[in-house]
Amino acid sequence: MKQRFSIPKAVAKVAETLEGKGFQAYLIGGCVRDLLLGRKPKDWDITTNAKPEEIVVLFPSSFYENEYGTVGVVTEHADDETLRVVEITPYRLEGRYSDKRRPDSVTWSTDLKDDLKRRDFTINAIALSVSGELVDLFDGRVDIRKKTVRAIGDPRSRFDEDALRMLRAVRIAMELDFTIDTATQDAIAVHAAHLKEMAAERIRDEFIRIVMSERPHIGLILSHKLGLLRYVAPELEDGIGVAQNKAHSFDVFEHMLRTVEHAAKKNFPLETRLSALFHDIGKPVTRRWSDEKKDWTFYGHDVVGSKITAKIMASLAFPKKMTEAVTTLVRWHMFFSDTEKITHSAVRRIVSRVGKEHIWNLMDVRTCDRIGTGRPKESPYRLRKYHAMIDEVMRDPLSVGMLNINGRRIMELTKMTPGPRIGYILHALFEAVLDDPGKNTPDYLEKKTLELDALPEKELEKRGKSAKESKEKEEKKALQEIRKKHWVE
Ligand code: ATP
Ligand code: MG
Repeated sequence: MKQRFSIPKAVAKVAETLEGKGFQAYLIGGCVRDLLLGRKPKDWDITTNAKPEEIVVLFPSSFYENEYGTVGVVTEHADDETLRVVEITPYRLEGRYSDKRRPDSVTWSTDLKDDLKRRDFTINAIALSVSGELVDLFDGRVDIRKKTVRAIGDPRSRFDEDALRMLRAVRIAMELDFTIDTATQDAIAVHAAHLKEMAAERIRDEFIRIVMSERPHIGLILSHKLGLLRYVAPELEDGIGVAQNKAHSFDVFEHMLRTVEHAAKKNFPLETRLSALFHDIGKPVTRRWSDEKKDWTFYGHDVVGSKITAKIMASLAFPKKMTEAVTTLVRWHMFFSDTEKITHSAVRRIVSRVGKEHIWNLMDVRTCDRIGTGRPKESPYRLRKYHAMIDEVMRDPLSVGMLNINGRRIMELTKMTPGPRIGYILHALFEAVLDDPGKNTPDYLEKKTLELDALPEKELEKRGKSAKESKEKEEKKALQEIRKKHWVE
């Protein structure tokens, strides 16, 4: 039976070029699965009985991608005007996997069946020709209907071949909102420890996709249940069963999961999600009983947590910049935010500690933390008030330092000695520039300096003082604007 699918013309053209030369060509993998699910495919993969050498001669813009014979073809005119790489891989037969990572040998096959058989899950092994012919040897469509991730063939040997598939199963289930078939889950539970042998980068990439999915908390619980999480971020599991103080109803693990759950719900970026997930990771090791408080305390869990986070992220080969952002957010997640008591200088301190680029992420982590604790959202007024205070301290104050002239240059020009006259001139110049920023040039300012210097002493003093006042007024107005924007007093 043939079905119609919307395949970009540029992609179809690649397949048709192969077919035109008498080769077979099928769309395969995630793109077919996504088409059947009505989702937008991320990338387009084609599998063919043509050999790499035969493929490259057909496409002038092609290049060899890897040792598996994959050829990348840059399409000329994609429908959405973007350049796109279509990956063409010859039908493959894989040899034994002795290192649980990659086949000892790869040979080309002439049979589509061989290629489908070596793929990971039934839903990823449906082939589709441009004319709409579906080849579905493992009932992938049934599993799509049942929303099930199921390994092809004997799940145990499939995970024994390639341990990363176990984490892929969790990731794909989270991204598609599927469940993992029972036999497949059982096999993962048996082979979970093989994840140890995987390259950190590959684990990291799957972990990121779980965290960026709509249900990271479910993915992490599932990873824990299947025994995978301890090879990804074992320190997360240290929070299991660790009771917190009276303000919390959940143990540390559940609290961290609920916090990242909210971060996903708000569609926050990776650094915020990871900080939400790791923010209390220092709690298990810092927990002490206080007889005085009759409660648990966690002094220093922010400092320790930030170190543990750095260790986890290093072990997963996260880039330095991302690690710095996340560890900083974990380090300062306890910042004091009572807007009734907080001062601007305290806000300024926290902004300078986490950096302007991360201050809003920190606010978001705080929101997630509250929700993850089961507390209601911060009162909208207090939140707006805090946001206004951040904006206030982040804005550069108006100052004569912004002028393209300074006191020293004025003294050079006018031959005057240090004294209040210089301040008067600077303020008068500043007022002129506030009225017309275009005047902030050395030429204009030097000319104007000489004019001002020629004024009688009393007149200059008057001009200088009134300019200073109007600067202060402007400054106040700017701050009021910010508060108005945030609807706070
Ligand atoms: P997406 O592109 O949305 O991430 P995908 O399923 O296309 O999902 P890719 O990593 O692009 O994932 O892989 C393309 C196809 O290659 C998969 O659909 C699957 O058929 C096959 N594949 C990928 N990784 C493996 C693996 N580790 N073992 C077996 N087959 C795999
Ligand atoms: Mg893909």
